[in-house]
Amino acid sequence: MTDPKWAGLQRETLAVRLAVERSQYGENSEALYLSSGYVQPSAEISARRFGGQEEGYTYGRSGNPTVTSFEQRLAALEGAQACLATASGMSAIMLMCFSLLKAGDHVIISQSMFGSTLKLIGSEFARFGVETSIVPQTDLAAWKTAIRPGVTRLLFAETPTNPLSEVCDIAALADLAHDAGALLAVDNCFATPALQRPIELGADIVMHSGTKYLDGQGRVLAGALCASEQMVTEKFLPVQKNSGMVLSPFNAWVVLKGLETLDLRMKAQSALTLELAQWLEAHPAVARVYYPGLASHPQHELAMKQMNGRGGAVLSFDVKAGNPEQARARAFHVLDSMRVLSLCTNLGDTKTLCAHPASTSHGKLSEAQRQAAGITQGLIRVAVGLEHPKDVQDDLARGLNTLDSL
Ligand SMILES: *Cc1c(COP(=O)(O)O)cnc(C)c1O
Repeated sequence: MTDPKWAGLQRETLAVRLAVERSQYGENSEALYLSSGYVQPSAEISARRFGGQEEGYTYGRSGNPTVTSFEQRLAALEGAQACLATASGMSAIMLMCFSLLKAGDHVIISQSMFGSTLKLIGSEFARFGVETSIVPQTDLAAWKTAIRPGVTRLLFAETPTNPLSEVCDIAALADLAHDAGALLAVDNCFATPALQRPIELGADIVMHSGTKYLDGQGRVLAGALCASEQMVTEKFLPVQKNSGMVLSPFNAWVVLKGLETLDLRMKAQSALTLELAQWLEAHPAVARVYYPGLASHPQHELAMKQMNGRGGAVLSFDVKAGNPEQARARAFHVLDSMRVLSLCTNLGDTKTLCAHPASTSHGKLSEAQRQAAGITQGLIRVAVGLEHPKDVQDDLARGLNTLDSL
């Protein structure tokens, strides 16, 4: 799919250079081709394009040059043969499951996955006869036990997870999947290819919510699937063409430009997050900090090995409290005392975003389910941006230092 002229260039170079050919105008920044249809040079060529004997754009649901530029650039960063862009992260998961599964098939996912992922695969696909086992994220033996030989088609993992940063061993899961004749897909949203490249660790498919760090500035929704050329062209592409789960060219252009600074942002935001995690861990009002970059994290070593020595840009912490009601009041006080940081459930922005998982992303669970998942009423998630660390600490200290006034 990709022009051989890019072969041999380093990842950093490809992140700013790899795209489709410049137009006749020689634009230096990648063109935004905002067009739903394409004029065909001749009826004969048109027929060949529609027949699949010749490459060329025909209609927006089947491809667009700006979208292709994003796909080729992300594939290069992930070390994948090919990539297909989708309208959002969830549409990428929908496309993957719809393309690979049929009634009677079995899937294994972790109980700590993104909430909509759990609902889409665990509930919606159940209506079509796809069975799902939901296992503890870090318990490799549980993943293994859940495998049904000849029936399990897909293991789908997310690492690190939201909001407690649980890490799973991608290489070990890939071995488990392949021994059972199944595929391993990894949601690489939190780490991005700047820190973690699941295909190099044995995964078959990498799924992205481009909405988060690939854009990196909180502007658009986007998604993608990276895999082998064969899987993309034979499995995903035909379903996508017919179902319309495509990325708009404008959003593709935004995330394409976002990829140019991904490496720098992930390194800088990881460093700022580690600094904040260490500061929070030493704060007397904080009971516990969840961050893979901290030595206190239960999978710290695995995370450092798997994520290029960095912990990513999301941490969570528990405010000290005597009971759930007090914990909720204290967490709300910290969030409502902020003057600089945003109270916002998104992540992957240059602006630091803080959220209260127990009343938002995990608000629909019962208190018992939340307790079992470790999502306490005192838990605050921080998706660290690019502000000066002192300003971030001061903004959180405003509430943390005045909890006794409650
Ligand atoms: C946001 C998110 C998704 C869903 O992506 P959308 O672009 O919002 O559809 C999936 N997985 C993870 C880990 C996410 O954070």
